[in-house]
Amino acid sequence: MKLLITGGAGFIGSAVIRHIINNTADNVVNLDKLTYAGNLESLAEVSDSERYAFEQVDICNRTAVDRVLAEHGPDAIMHLAAESHVDRSIDGPAAFIETNIVGTYTLLEAARQYWQSLDGQRRTNFRFHHISTDEVYGDLESSVDLFTETTPYAPSSPYSASKASSDHLARAWQRTYGLPVLVTNCSNNYGPYHFPEKLIPLVILNALEDKPLPVYGKGDQIRDWLYVEDHARALYKVVTEGKPGETYNIGGHNEKQNIEVVQAICDILQDLRPRQTSYRDLITHVKDRPGHDLRYAIDAGKIQRELDWSPEETFETGIRKTVVWYLNHQEWCNRLQDGSYQRERLGVGT
Ligand code: NAD
Repeated sequence: MKLLITGGAGFIGSAVIRHIINNTADNVVNLDKLTYAGNLESLAEVSDSERYAFEQVDICNRTAVDRVLAEHGPDAIMHLAAESHVDRSIDGPAAFIETNIVGTYTLLEAARQYWQSLDGQRRTNFRFHHISTDEVYGDLESSVDLFTETTPYAPSSPYSASKASSDHLARAWQRTYGLPVLVTNCSNNYGPYHFPEKLIPLVILNALEDKPLPVYGKGDQIRDWLYVEDHARALYKVVTEGKPGETYNIGGHNEKQNIEVVQAICDILQDLRPRQTSYRDLITHVKDRPGHDLRYAIDAGKIQRELDWSPEETFETGIRKTVVWYLNHQEWCNRLQDGSYQRERLGVGT
């Protein structure tokens, strides 16, 4: 099988590619524009494989997407390319509308034309897997409710609204044109190769430099944390075994308040790299994000029942692995923080 993966140089996309190259016989084509969030160094362990190819392409560029589809002839598309950072979407929503909505539309149209050109079994077996977030469901009001696949959409941020739009487009292409679309909505991911603007890597790296650990408001926002390699396994299950037209929610059964996450990281660091006073002393409460949803939590029962997937990591095992990974990959972090991962690929000296 040959999989075209958009956004494969990002946090989750690179985990999916590492999973596929390391654990299956499949071929992968990574289609990525390489925005600030794309880092080919996250693929170093698999990029020499004969089963891996890279195309630096913007999903909004229809001509380039058509060329990639014609040249590589994929059996499935896993669509992860997106602008993904909520705070950036508040400061500048335009790129989110362009990539997440117009880009997804462009990719769906290119995929439809390509799929219609396939014959027989290849056409029947083709899949378009649209990867999305639980943020499309908005805030959970009660402390016991869980998001299911039928929870109505109520996005709060420009990011989640743009992802909600792209989910609707993907489902419409299934209903209207019969394109074999699968949609997954997943909770917050964490783990290796996470860009250090997101909470968990930011806290680990700031703590190591004795910098303040910023926590929005009281830190009482609840997220359902999933280790990224568990997500990668789930996505591969869905694209290979999922039923077209279906949506699968993916979550880790790991609800934690943000403050609990930060405290857990502080305590693991204290154990692995002791500081004179507790790392918790660095916690600094900052003004809350506008429109900040309080609680997200996923009912992942459907994917468990129908595709026999469940997470292997608990929050406790996954967060320790993550902290250890950051301690052992300072070079990857330094090159992100000083911008050299971008300068070198642009051919600019460091
Ligand atoms: P990321 O920001 O780390 O990576 C996004 C990737 O997409 C980057 O490599 C970037 O270069 C690429 N990209 C951006 N615009 C592009 C364009 N126009 N054309 C081609 N490539 C482009 O994001 P992530 O955290 O890996 O998330 C991947 C997907 O999973 C997103 O669709 C996101 O909405 C979804 N998701 C993320 C989480 C999470 O916790 N990170 C949770 C659930 C769902």
